Amino acid sequence: MKSHLLAAVAASALLAGCATTNQVADMPMTDNVAETAIPSGTGYFAKASDLPLHAPDFSKISDTDYAPAFDQAMEIHNAEIAAIVNNPEAPTFDNTIVALETSGKMLNRVATVFYALTGANTNDTLQAIDTEVSPKLSAHSDAITLNPELFARVKAVYDNRAAMSMTPEDAKLLEETYKEMVHAGAMLTPDQKERVKAINSRLSTLTTEFSQRLIEANKENALVVDDKAMLAGLSEAEIAAAAKTAADRGMPGKYVIALQNTTQQPILPSMENRALREKLFKQSIHRADQGGANDTRALIAEVAKLRAEKAALFGQPDWATYAMYDRMAQNPKTAIDFMNAMVPALAATQRAEAAALNAEIKASGGDFTVKPWDWDRYAEKVRMAKYDLDESAVKPYFEVTRTLEDGVFFMAEKLYGVTFEKRTDLPVYHPDVTTYTVFDKDKSLLGIFYFDPFQRDNKRGGAWMSNFVEQSHLYGTKPVIYNVLNIPKAPEGEPQLVSFDNVETMFHEFGHALHGFFADQKYASLSGTATARDFVEYPSQVHEMWASDPAVLANYARHHETGEVIPGELIAKIEAASKFNQGYALGETMEAALLDMKWHSLSPQEAAAIDTPEKVDAFERKSLTELGLEVELVPPRYRSSYFSHIFSDPTGYSAGYYSYLWTEMLDRDSRKWFRENGGLTRANGDHYRATVLSRGGTMDYFEMFRNFAGREPDVTPMLEARGLVEPVK
Ligand SMILES: [Zn+2]
Repeated sequence: MKSHLLAAVAASALLAGCATTNQVADMPMTDNVAETAIPSGTGYFAKASDLPLHAPDFSKISDTDYAPAFDQAMEIHNAEIAAIVNNPEAPTFDNTIVALETSGKMLNRVATVFYALTGANTNDTLQAIDTEVSPKLSAHSDAITLNPELFARVKAVYDNRAAMSMTPEDAKLLEETYKEMVHAGAMLTPDQKERVKAINSRLSTLTTEFSQRLIEANKENALVVDDKAMLAGLSEAEIAAAAKTAADRGMPGKYVIALQNTTQQPILPSMENRALREKLFKQSIHRADQGGANDTRALIAEVAKLRAEKAALFGQPDWATYAMYDRMAQNPKTAIDFMNAMVPALAATQRAEAAALNAEIKASGGDFTVKPWDWDRYAEKVRMAKYDLDESAVKPYFEVTRTLEDGVFFMAEKLYGVTFEKRTDLPVYHPDVTTYTVFDKDKSLLGIFYFDPFQRDNKRGGAWMSNFVEQSHLYGTKPVIYNVLNIPKAPEGEPQLVSFDNVETMFHEFGHALHGFFADQKYASLSGTATARDFVEYPSQVHEMWASDPAVLANYARHHETGEVIPGELIAKIEAASKFNQGYALGETMEAALLDMKWHSLSPQEAAAIDTPEKVDAFERKSLTELGLEVELVPPRYRSSYFSHIFSDPTGYSAGYYSYLWTEMLDRDSRKWFRENGGLTRANGDHYRATVLSRGGTMDYFEMFRNFAGREPDVTPMLEARGLVEPVK
């Protein structure tokens, strides 16, 4: 979701987990308003990059460029807004709406690069700039969206819309601009506006602080092991990687397991030592709630309170109602009902899974009952017994570059006819980043793709996609897009193997990339992934299906030593096993999604009463208990204290984490459509591109889905895929 008025701030919405952001690209000035002098900028960001498609020239950008560029860019943007406001001509679509859309280009340039780096390759200097700049940006966008003279002009155009002849995309731009300003507070009284500005500024500071404390907390709570014998069960490669991490962190001779940002840690199943498993798990769930400099709970309490207060200023009962105004689901009730309908079947599945794990523990001589730190280990054993599937037997077939070039790119070629060429001429922000030219089906240039696969200490957790340059017919720009992942890096000289989960993530992130590459919009703010929070994950999720498509697998899933294609029975096992452990997998996500809704359904009074770290804990405990799920055995995927989706950004995925489930419904139903219509074909790809991937944020989302599938979305395929209901034969 992207706001053109708030583009620079929206750029900071690069979130842990998967997220996309969307930023306005560069263009030659279309100057509707010559009356007011616009200052010109200096330095790298003053003009568009000279590189192909205006890709950022990282060889020319230094950390000291950002702070002055932000200041200048805001000043220029302010002058552009003043020129719109002071235009002596009556407000028109062009001199107001389009002029607003095309303002702030330098700001978008600097923010685009800056937030790409604070997410994927940060350092102390960038962190300090972020802390300083975030509240300034927040105040800057408020000054624009709450500018009464500007709103008067926008409203004049909007009120006259019935009499105007506009393309559907023009009409959508007008509607979005108007609604966004109203949502920001344009209709509030002057006193209320001042309070909204103060709240926004404080939220910006608090959420930046949350994000920074969490990066430190993740580092500080990495598991340090002195004795290699403790690591029994880990592969030699995993032990070598832990030794290298320790050496990199100045602890040669020790072993360090870095924390992933989720509650569960992927290394837990391999760990034989139960006490060590418990220790790692507890370091994970308590990473940011133990007092001290990296405790995030006081920040959460204040964020929840301010959000509830802000919603009340708009006459809304809670933040969720306020925040969901532009979502596909439209209101909290729809989202909560959608999830609650699954709770009884899910809770029963969780209990059945726990019973099966306890039986496995007993059978293997254990004298304990399953705890969360045991869950994945024994689930893995049951999985092997029940499906004879050993994850470590799968991994040798998935090498990272081959998965990208022969898997992900192959899928894109088969479905959409696009092709790729590796390039070596573009400067990158880290040596692990690779770049590709993307050609359309007619061999014309479609865009440029950056791929940044490996985990680093200075990278946020999770995976995401965003644009360096946004597609826009108005600007004549083509997309420049990056995917960031957190695949653990193998030691030098070892093959870079990827878990099947990460393989699916690669297909997922490239689904976002295709949504960006196939953008076909006039306006950057409606382009590509600039869609609702509960829609944007749909095109990406649906592309995960191709990771296990037989034709795609045959092309990329080859043993790194023998070159042998992954055996069909191993894939059949992966498929069969995919319904396994869904009480946990779906459960942890739904618990996080419902916890998000609990935090954001508070009235101002309720929120204000949660005013200490202890009360944050108590509220979380109570909220989770109320869900009716087995939360002691299956904790939420994120606890509040490290739930960066909802607390590391002024808005982010707040009251929006359910989106992953909502879009899964769209995704699973769409997979059914693809399967019913012949699978991996150009005809199917072209249809999906025409009806969904090329539409950006220009249409009603239900209509978009109907254009694609020929009917309303149905939740049944999702429930079948998760094994919660039996498929109809
Ligand atoms: Zn995603």
